[in-house]
Amino acid sequence: MPQQTTRSPHRSPQIVIIGSGFAGVGMGIQLKLAGMHDFVILESAAAVGGTWRDNTYPGAACDVPSHLYSFSFEPWPWWSHAFAHQDEILRYMQHCVDRYDLQPHVRLNSAVTAATFDEKSNRWQVTLAGGETLDCWLLISGTGGLSRPANPDIPGLDQFRGPIFHTARWHHEVNLAGKRVAVIGTGASAIQVVPELAKTAAQLHLFQRTPPWILPKPDREIGPREQRLYARLPWLQWLNRARIYLLLEWRAIAFTRFTGIMKLPRMGALRFIRKSIANPELRAKVTPDYAFGCKRVLISNNYYPALNRDNVQLVAGGAKALTADAVVGADGQSWPVDAVVLATGFQASESMAPFPINGLHGQSLDSAWAGGAEAFKGTTVAGFPNLFLIVGPNTGLGHNSMVYIIESQIRYIMDAIQTLQTQQLAWVAPKPATQDQYNRQLHQRLGKSVWASGCKSWYQTASGKNTTLWPGFTFSFRHQLSRFELSDYEWQASQPAENQLAASAQVKAVLS
Ligand code: NAP
Repeated sequence: MPQQTTRSPHRSPQIVIIGSGFAGVGMGIQLKLAGMHDFVILESAAAVGGTWRDNTYPGAACDVPSHLYSFSFEPWPWWSHAFAHQDEILRYMQHCVDRYDLQPHVRLNSAVTAATFDEKSNRWQVTLAGGETLDCWLLISGTGGLSRPANPDIPGLDQFRGPIFHTARWHHEVNLAGKRVAVIGTGASAIQVVPELAKTAAQLHLFQRTPPWILPKPDREIGPREQRLYARLPWLQWLNRARIYLLLEWRAIAFTRFTGIMKLPRMGALRFIRKSIANPELRAKVTPDYAFGCKRVLISNNYYPALNRDNVQLVAGGAKALTADAVVGADGQSWPVDAVVLATGFQASESMAPFPINGLHGQSLDSAWAGGAEAFKGTTVAGFPNLFLIVGPNTGLGHNSMVYIIESQIRYIMDAIQTLQTQQLAWVAPKPATQDQYNRQLHQRLGKSVWASGCKSWYQTASGKNTTLWPGFTFSFRHQLSRFELSDYEWQASQPAENQLAASAQVKAVLS
């Protein structure tokens, strides 16, 4: 039965931002700083924070140094580790929300179920779970590429009688100490959670389908003296940030242009395995057989040591099935367990539209993206007026901080808003031919990257199209987004009453 929709009891804001992770919070802050207060941030969960609210599994931490994995306009001198832990990053995000007084703009527990562009009013109709609709002028999606957990299609998943949960939906009430635990998957989340679980589990069976390439993590504690120094001398922190950025940035060359360079870190990773693992059988199991860098390169100092423990077994070949009380390996051996942790990643490349989105002529984003998601500069989509995607198609990175990409997109969107206002436009959407040409060039470059060297990863769709990664330097991404060029866009002039943003810029949204 079709769901009944009701008009929102709240006054509809001019701008709707979906999601309160780094993208949504950063966008909200920049709107406020520009004097635009007529926006709402819709958050489906009960708290802000995105990835860093959802991923609370033991050991969750960032694998990008925190002095770079933070907003450039809100440096934080108080990071306690070079690579901050999840709770600290979440606290930083809450600090940003408080500091910029964003909370009045945030509506929690407000999941968006659909968004439709109404060609009569030139506004987006945004439907929330429960049926309420908001209409708005600009729709900005900050739902992130890694927000929807992917449960594996392993037969018998629903037969298992004990606790079974995903790393991004951790069941903190389940005590795994002294239990026989299965972990399925050996990606970025698994290598962080396994060392923690291994400390207290009676047995830990780790089901590995493909071994990841792993390098040592150059982590260290940051003491109070250094923190105070950064607080007192912000330029010193800025220099440190720039140093980290440059150290990470050069790696783009190896990922995208001169992939032969990857032989060097590959040798380092092989040395790391030899140094960390004495057992030749285990060494063989953890040694990848695909190009270094093809899947995300991981960093960890405690993963290999955890595999050496007597209570940990690495089961190669992955999990074939689950029964009521066991996980069955690829060789048919059954491993009885009390609980199962799914470290199986996210729905990243396949279904990128987070909910049904309908643009001009009723076209759905899913149908526009049937051949794999594409956007113009990763941010706007032909046929979808005034829709802006932060962390849209081909904006992800294998080598540097996503916060830098997010800030680049936010600047572009701010420039777009200014263009819409000054040119008195009702809407803009990229010209289809311009978007096609952009993507042809992008995919040509991706074809030469290490990600196209033959491995299977979440970067690619089932048909092998890379819809997630940006194939180049992050500064060239920022450069191409440095100006919103109206000549790249189709647009419609507004009726005087339509372009209300300027008039209502100082109107504070009245939100519950
Ligand atoms: P992931 O890297 O996609 O890893 C998923 C793992 O599950 C892979 O080992 C995969 O094996 C395995 N898997 C999936 N389906 C399976 C099945 N049916 N049977 C057996 N194994 C299966 O996911 P993730 O570890 O959650 O990380 C996702 C991304 O999140 C990362 O790449 C990173 O961008 C981000 N992340 C970042 C951090 C950080 O520190 N900043 C931490 C965690 C996550 P295959 O390799 O064979 O597919």
